[in-house]
Amino acid sequence: MANQELFKKVLSHAKEYGFVFPSSEIYDGLSAVYDYGQQGVALKKNLRDYWWKAMVQLNDNIVGLDAAILMHPTTWKASGHVDAFNDPLIDNKDSKKRYRADVLVEDYVGKLDTKIEKEVKKAAKRFGDAFDKAQFLSTNPRVVGYKEKGDAILKRLGKSLEKEDLADVKSLIEELEIVCPVSGSKNWTEVKQFNLMFGTKLGASAESATELYLRPETAQGIFVNFLNVQKTGRMKLPFGIAQTGKAFRNEIVARQFIFRMREFEQMEMQFFIPPGTQKEWYAHWKETRLKWHHSLGLGEDNYRFHDHEKLAHYADAACDIEFKFPFGFKELEGIHSRTDFDLSSHEEFSGKKLQYFDPERQENYVPYVLETSIGLDRLFLAVFSNSLQEETLEDGSSRTVLRLPAVVAPTKVAVLPLVKKDGLPDIAKSFVDELKWDMTVAYDEKDAVGRRYRRQDALGTPFCITVDHQTLEDQTVTIRYRDSMAQERLTLPEAKAKINAAVSFQNWLGDI
Ligand code: ATP
Repeated sequence: MANQELFKKVLSHAKEYGFVFPSSEIYDGLSAVYDYGQQGVALKKNLRDYWWKAMVQLNDNIVGLDAAILMHPTTWKASGHVDAFNDPLIDNKDSKKRYRADVLVEDYVGKLDTKIEKEVKKAAKRFGDAFDKAQFLSTNPRVVGYKEKGDAILKRLGKSLEKEDLADVKSLIEELEIVCPVSGSKNWTEVKQFNLMFGTKLGASAESATELYLRPETAQGIFVNFLNVQKTGRMKLPFGIAQTGKAFRNEIVARQFIFRMREFEQMEMQFFIPPGTQKEWYAHWKETRLKWHHSLGLGEDNYRFHDHEKLAHYADAACDIEFKFPFGFKELEGIHSRTDFDLSSHEEFSGKKLQYFDPERQENYVPYVLETSIGLDRLFLAVFSNSLQEETLEDGSSRTVLRLPAVVAPTKVAVLPLVKKDGLPDIAKSFVDELKWDMTVAYDEKDAVGRRYRRQDALGTPFCITVDHQTLEDQTVTIRYRDSMAQERLTLPEAKAKINAAVSFQNWLGDI
């Protein structure tokens, strides 16, 4: 499917099959806020578990936390969010549409990337087996030209943002002759900063109410609890604290479905380390997180690193793991070397020491921090959009199949009586009762079995078990595989063992 078409299909499929609904839809929805339906909530939970197991359960030096969304307002002074959590915005005077100035420039560079991809495809076709992609990328003059142009633009953008030179960001937009996608005009306002935090109030009366913020990231809940966890858990450096939870940002441009939401969920881990070891831990977590992504089997070519030119006020190194979404490569996860910025700043604002006594070095210090931060909703979109496929079958018919990694599929197996008589539904239901202790199971007896298979394909269910007349005689069932559509005759315990093995975390995470 072409990208635009795929994205439309993703939206309609997500809604039609109960994965994602617009929030408060009966009131025409709320911009960039979404609800997860009966299928979506299960997929989201499984993705969260997949992360949690890899980060917390499998690492004896990483523990969990669940901090509150509301925090003392000074937290956000200390973290820098009150002063610096801004995005540069620009309006088009003709369409009256608002954009993030940096995103307009990045999208321009994205188009250069698309041109490079097209050249690669053309050349691959022309040269066949002899095609050497790396050599082509480094020697083809047109491709090298696009690449150099893109890099120079991003470098300049990074520098201007770092210096808060918003006039230069505007000049860049003008020089590149970027037009408003809606009006097609170049009639832009100046670039301004816009703070992304949502404010709210605590307290019953207007006079005594305290101004609060809904947390824009979960990380600060970890920093303020650093000593609580370190002391009560008797943790020794290096160690990590992981948490998942809602974060809120008043995004300027909130399009692209669940990619950029105003209320979303993050999965973050702060890894506390001795100062001076940040380079090696940065390399370690970059590699470890990429391996984790690869383990989901969405295709290694769909990921790439993007090193930051513009470093946030707290970081001494940072990169994104980008994923190839239907609208191009975009950030899925951020990995940041945050130095001792956060803990030191909380020390300063709270007047409390946030230090660690290192028994080996025999000294007290403020630990450095390595952060991995991934958006659960973006991960959902990556997995969902990559899995949604339209296939033409041998007989010329087509099927829609959601090839979700089996380990995160909402339903692992659907049990289907071939017909609604002869006692088959009762046997099928007894199988459901037996299986549901170990895995999520669906039961379906409506429509012809072929149509039921198609429905489970569209929901991403990796296995179906069909109970038929032979089951009455020898207790065997047909197990049908979503991806190959192959069928096999097995006893129920054999089928159960096969499914359990295929969906086990060890099977998926064992190699990372
Ligand atoms: P972007 O540049 O796309 O705005 P960011 O660099 O501000 O993202 P971080 O602050 O590093 O993002 O947040 C960590 C992760 O949280 C991101 O990698 C992304 O997966 C997720 N995330 C951030 N903002 C949103 C949002 N508005 N909606 C959904 N997920 C988000």
